[in-house]
Amino acid sequence: MYYIDVILFSSWKWEQSTNIAKPPGFGAEPQKAVERAEGTVRKACNKSRQPSTADDDGGLPETSRIWKSTRHKDVSRSARFFLWMLLHDGYKVGGHWAKIEGHEFKATCAQCGVTESLEHILTRCDAPGQDEIWELASEMWKLKTGEDLPKPTKGQIMACATTKKKDVGTTRLFRILISESAHLVWRLRNERVIQEKLPASQNEIHNRWLGAMNIRLKLDCTLTNAEKYGKRALKKDLVQKTWSKVLKNEATLPRDWMRETEVLVGIG
Ligand SMILES: [Zn+2]
Repeated sequence: MYYIDVILFSSWKWEQSTNIAKPPGFGAEPQKAVERAEGTVRKACNKSRQPSTADDDGGLPETSRIWKSTRHKDVSRSARFFLWMLLHDGYKVGGHWAKIEGHEFKATCAQCGVTESLEHILTRCDAPGQDEIWELASEMWKLKTGEDLPKPTKGQIMACATTKKKDVGTTRLFRILISESAHLVWRLRNERVIQEKLPASQNEIHNRWLGAMNIRLKLDCTLTNAEKYGKRALKKDLVQKTWSKVLKNEATLPRDWMRETEVLVGIG
């Protein structure tokens, strides 16, 4: 984890930290990749800005805010690294392989027969995974807000930790939902393509997604322990606002449900 922390901390100016190995796939023109990513994030924020989402500053995120977002504590540590790699165009997919002799076949999605891209993997691929996961995310979002969650673009995924919704609870759930869901889509794709496992079944996808959300919920509950975490503890009020309306048997839970060991998200 130290390695990841160092990378995250060094952010996109990693070239100043010459003792750190380049992350895989980090190209020869990092500045261009960084500028491209910033443009994508701003475009995504612009598109998703609607009066109902009430972006508090009414503007597009500053460069510093985009990069800080990859260290935002609303996003789990492993998903932070995933977002950081997305922003840096650090994953080798599609076109990266097209000119590498003997590896050209890796440029194409074996399921769909098109050139792979992160957008394709995360939001368009016909292989089992992304469609099912975004439907589950939408189901949870509907419980929380009464609205469907449109499938995000790659830019909206990259921008999730800078996105604000109508209140702190929905904002935080949105960030958790998007980052964890996208990260799981990516992991399932890697298991299928890199580890050459059979595509996940509908049941497995459902259980893995639910598991990822329950891990975040349990982590939140654990981090409210002020005796253990002191000033770093999460405020119970924030955790309550984040998970209200999406818990299993919520009406029967005690008021201080964060101390319960069996509290789970309530879909499926
Ligand atoms: Zn595909």
